[in-house]
Amino acid sequence: MQEMSREHVDVLIVGAGLSGVGAACRLRERRPGKTFAILESRDAIGGTWDLFRFPGIRSDSDMFTLCYPFRPWTGTQAIVDGASILDYVRQTAREHGVDRHIRFHHRVVAAEWSSADARWDVRAERVDTGETVHLSCGFLFSCTGYYDYAEGYTPDFTGIERFGGEVVHPQFWGDDVDHAGKRVVVIGSGATAVTVIPALAERAAHVTMLQRSPSYVIPLPASDPIAGLLERFLPTRYAYPIVRWKNVRLALAIYGLSRRWPSGMKRLIRWILERSLPPGYDIDRHFSPRYEPWDQRMCVVPDGDLFAAIRGGRVSVVTDRIETFTETGVELASGAHLDADMVVTATGLKMVPLGKIALRVDGADVALADALVYRGMLLTGVPNLAFAFGYTNQSWTLGSDLTSEHVCALLEHMDRHGYAQCTPRNRDPAVAEVPFAELTSGYIVRALDAFPRQGSKDPWRRPQNYVRDSRSVRRAPMDDPALEFARAAPAAARIAA
Ligand SMILES: Cc1cc2nc3c(=O)[nH]c(=O)nc-3n(C[C@H](O)[C@H](O)[C@H](O)COP(=O)(O)OP(=O)(O)OC[C@H]3O[C@@H](n4cnc5c(N)ncnc54)[C@H](O)[C@@H]3O)c2cc1C
Repeated sequence: MQEMSREHVDVLIVGAGLSGVGAACRLRERRPGKTFAILESRDAIGGTWDLFRFPGIRSDSDMFTLCYPFRPWTGTQAIVDGASILDYVRQTAREHGVDRHIRFHHRVVAAEWSSADARWDVRAERVDTGETVHLSCGFLFSCTGYYDYAEGYTPDFTGIERFGGEVVHPQFWGDDVDHAGKRVVVIGSGATAVTVIPALAERAAHVTMLQRSPSYVIPLPASDPIAGLLERFLPTRYAYPIVRWKNVRLALAIYGLSRRWPSGMKRLIRWILERSLPPGYDIDRHFSPRYEPWDQRMCVVPDGDLFAAIRGGRVSVVTDRIETFTETGVELASGAHLDADMVVTATGLKMVPLGKIALRVDGADVALADALVYRGMLLTGVPNLAFAFGYTNQSWTLGSDLTSEHVCALLEHMDRHGYAQCTPRNRDPAVAEVPFAELTSGYIVRALDAFPRQGSKDPWRRPQNYVRDSRSVRRAPMDDPALEFARAAPAAARIAA
């Protein structure tokens, strides 16, 4: 009897960040007859752009590709602050009427697929009341991002408990954190470190960037002069696609050149750094990584703000290992001591797949690490489930929106043919397994064992190339032998099951 009264929707989206809001907009646009709901564990729309509140939080890929293609980013500003991105996501949700489908405080913890019923039974916990909520859906769309909201990554630093100052992880920066007039040490060399440091330097006594090893850091203009020029002469509907494609191509060209011609790219980056940093600056020690460009994500600094802060003497860079924290700061392997009133651990995220949702299919647990990913969005052996994932070398939205488009096309195909179930199956023995992501960044390598695998060839491999990927995904035949479709089991079979 309980089963009969359980609320059912055609599509259940998990997560109300950039991807979940985009997925819902696409669903309304392309499959308007479908009922859907969005379950969101937090109390706000926006995911990453609502959670992260550290000073200076901003995009590091351009807004013309980070925005949704169906809601163009206008103006010339390509790199913008987190608040503007959050506002953009919220406004999109409102304008497209998807905000009223969001149920906040619902953390999805488990989902069980029944082939007999052709539906997911989804269990969510109410974060505010502790209640357990059950819903069922025909299709589950995980838009849960890629990292743990509950904890960031902090290595085990010896003696950290002795430190008398404040230790803050950027993921949990609250309104009460005050760095004004303080000597701040920021541990890390990644995107978050290079973002937070120039902003902290505006009010801190001094900021030291303490890194074990350097990353590639390149300055890029915060505004896009070509966007400005085109906007002046063309209506947005013509100007925007041109700017978007220019930026897609530019990002791919930089990535492609880096992979094919690493020594040339390294020379080019060094040439730029020599012009950005003070004369005689030790670029080899502080800004020459041991890996090749794009083995790990490149860090972007808009208008070279980090370099300006170094030139102004407000920021210094130290490349060394931490021996131990002391009461007054950090002691380094070289024997030097960094005095600090505050330490910011910009040491990374903890990656998790599919929002930590435990999946079961017909009574058996799904081991994500054993599954292969179909076109970067579906999982072998797991029916009627997709997950949104962006690219690592371009704006996230390019990948997540392509996924949403394809999910809508898949739903349309299933409806047209009366299919109730779609399950990817790899029947090609020539497909070798490769890691889900190719980058060698610490936070990715640490998590790869928990993630599903990619295959060595199409359709099991998502190229980190939006141009190629969008072509192959949009042209992909739905009657792909790698997709097994089934009609609903007859009612009698369902009752017997
Ligand atoms: C500091 C920072 C800067 C970044 N800058 C850029 C950038 O410039 N360009 C770029 O392309 N990408 C950037 N990224 C990557 C960024 O995460 C993506 O841009 C994008 O915001 C991801 O959107 P999403 O909706 O897929 O995931 P998220 O933004 O992570 O949103 C996921 C949502 O799902 C919810 N959720 C998760 N699990 C569950 C569950 N089990 N039940 C219910 N709800 C759940 C979360 O609460 C959250 O609201 C950045 C990331 C960080 C951390």
